[in-house]
Formats: sequence, structure tokens, C-alpha cells
Amino acid sequence: MYQEFISFTKKTFKTDEFIPLHAPIFIGNEKKYLNECIDSTFVSSVGKFVDLFENEMVKFTGAKHAIATSNGTAALHIALLMAGVEHNDEVITQPLTFIATVNALSYIGASPVFVDIDKDTLSLSPEKLEHFLTHKTEMVNGNCINKKTKKKIKAVVPMHTFGFSARIDEIITVCNRFNIATVEDAAESLGSYYKGQHTGTFGLLGTFSFNGNKTITTGGGGMLVTNDDEIARKAKHITTTAKIPHPWDYEHDMIGYNYRLPNINAALGYAQMEELSFILKKKKILADKYETFFKDKSIQYITGPKESISNYWLNAVLLENLEERNSFLKVTNENGVMTRPIWKLMNSLPMFKNAQTGNLDNAKYFEERVINIPSSVIL
Ligand SMILES: *Cc1c(COP(=O)(O)O)cnc(C)c1O
Repeated sequence: MYQEFISFTKKTFKTDEFIPLHAPIFIGNEKKYLNECIDSTFVSSVGKFVDLFENEMVKFTGAKHAIATSNGTAALHIALLMAGVEHNDEVITQPLTFIATVNALSYIGASPVFVDIDKDTLSLSPEKLEHFLTHKTEMVNGNCINKKTKKKIKAVVPMHTFGFSARIDEIITVCNRFNIATVEDAAESLGSYYKGQHTGTFGLLGTFSFNGNKTITTGGGGMLVTNDDEIARKAKHITTTAKIPHPWDYEHDMIGYNYRLPNINAALGYAQMEELSFILKKKKILADKYETFFKDKSIQYITGPKESISNYWLNAVLLENLEERNSFLKVTNENGVMTRPIWKLMNSLPMFKNAQTGNLDNAKYFEERVINIPSSVIL
């Protein structure tokens, strides 16, 4: 079966050479726009491509505002600040996510609380969230207080795992009841929709990443989206050193961050946005091939929940148990087919080992069994 998978992959990717997990493609105006930056000398914080890239993200996602940042972690950091998270507050998120989600809240001095995922979405479970909030917290003066730690729970961060959407509408309904802001980590879900609406645009804020391995890339980069005018204004201000516009004076009215996306990265992003529909179409074709291949096999191909359209950023399979997972990883990687296990649970890492958690049965189940398989666009 493993050998069959390896042959299938080599045939599908039309190569006998090493097959990476996810390689970017540059087939449009990338070089043209990069040259424009260099020829004009505007490669850094000034230039037209940041605005152009932000506008394309507004058009594509349907969010009212988009603010470009130096990477996805920075976008998350600012999104949490904008949601009102402060030092000593708590933020609920899922234990199966990339480290950036939890790093971002830690930068503020907030602590994570981990609530389980659902089996069909691999993302934060609205039922488990409601259960935790109902039994472990109480409302005091309109604030949701953790009964155990006496700290305020200020935000919930669902992450749309591998491009599969969380049941985001239900999560937001629960959060509203407890007066908690929702910040969507949509780093992996550019081009994924839930009930017809783009992921990242449901919560108070949503964030995206354009790291080299994401659906489209700017080398490194991120984007924050929101429908709130005031939050958008503040987010732009604080990510650009909080400078008051003036023809010559250096006037800054608060401690800001240098989280600007350079023009040269935005140029790459603007070119990649022109190819996004093509990329998504190709990724769907590959996903369909994988689904057909794994039908009636002992390895299960993971598809998203039925209310959602996935971008199939990283295709994922479910092995029977930990031993099978490990031998699949070994055989595929030794044969030039790059595969990777899902992340370790965040609460098993030394920095977060004392974090409070709900019951994490689903997360543990998937931690031992999920593997990502090659997902690059095939030209
Ligand atoms: C990629 C990613 C991020 C952001 O990563 P950066 O490298 O900082 O752009 C955040 N959260 C998740 C879940 C991610 O996969």
C-alpha cells in the first residue's frame, strides 16, 4: 500500500525526483513587478504595491479592510491587541495548531487555554467551547472570568486547519454569549469558504500568512482583515510605527510596531493574487485525485465538513495508529516523497505545559494519526 502511494505520487507529480510538501509557483507578473520596485528604488516601506495588494485582498475575501504586515504572526499579534487582549488575560485556542497562534498571544503576556477540536473540521469545536465556558467560567460585570485562575478570557482564536473551515458561525454565537471577541487564524485558509463566506471575515478580525509554504507567498508576509473602520485605522497605525502623517516631522503618539510589509514583498503578493484562482483550481484537481486514490484503502483521505469549500492547502490523511503513521512517514520520506506529521499538541511543549485545557480526546487522536502529503500545484 505504501509503495502504491509512492508510485501514485510520482506519476501524479510527473517526476522521479524529490517531491516537496508544498513549493510555491511563480508563473505570472512576479519578475515584472519586482523589477518595477528595483528600478524605482522603492523596495521598502514606501511604494504602490502595499495598497494594491491590500485592495486585492479586500476584493477577494469580501472583508471591508485589509492591512498588510511583515508576517502572519505579526498580524495575529496585532489582531489580539485590537481585540482588547492585555497582559494577564487569557485566550482560548485549539491545541492542534502551528506554534505562531500561541506565540502571538504570549507576546502580549496573555496565557492560552486549550479547548478540543472537532473530528470533521480538525478545528476548534463550538460544542467543546460552549461546554468549557459554561462550566469553567462566570460572568462578572460583563467580563468572562475563568473560575480557576480568576483571569479574564478576552478572545477565542479558532484556526482553520489545513484550509478546512471551523464551524465559525457557531463559535461566534457562543463567544457573543460570553462577551468574548473572535479572532480567526486564517493563515492556512486563503480561498476557503464556510457557507459561502470567506474564512477570516466572520470574526472581529481575521489574519492570513504569505510565508513560502502557504497557498500564495510574498516570501514572508501577513494580512489582517476586519469590517470595523476604527479597528482598521488603529491596526494600520500601530503596525506602521504609530507615526502621525506630516510632511517632515517625526511625530508618534503611542508605542508602535515596525510590522510593515515592504513594497518588494507586496509586489510579489500582488502578482500572486492574479494567480490565486488558477492555484485553487489546480489544488482542487489534486485533492480529487487523492480522494479517488484513497477510496477503499486502509488510509483515510481527509475531506472538509460539508458546509465548507476547502482550499486544500495541505492534503491530509489519517493513519490507523501511531505505528502505522511512523512507518508511513519513514517509507515515504526515504523514497523522496516528502510527508510530515501534524503538529505536536501545544500543551505538550515546555512553554505551555502548565496551560489549562478541556478534554482533548480528539486532538490527541489526530496528533497520533494525521500526515500531510505533497500538495504543490502541478503545472
Ligand atoms: C503559517 C501560519 C501562521 C503565520 O506564520 P508566519 O510564518 O508568521 O507568516 C499562523 N498560524 C498558522 C496556523 C499558520 O499555519
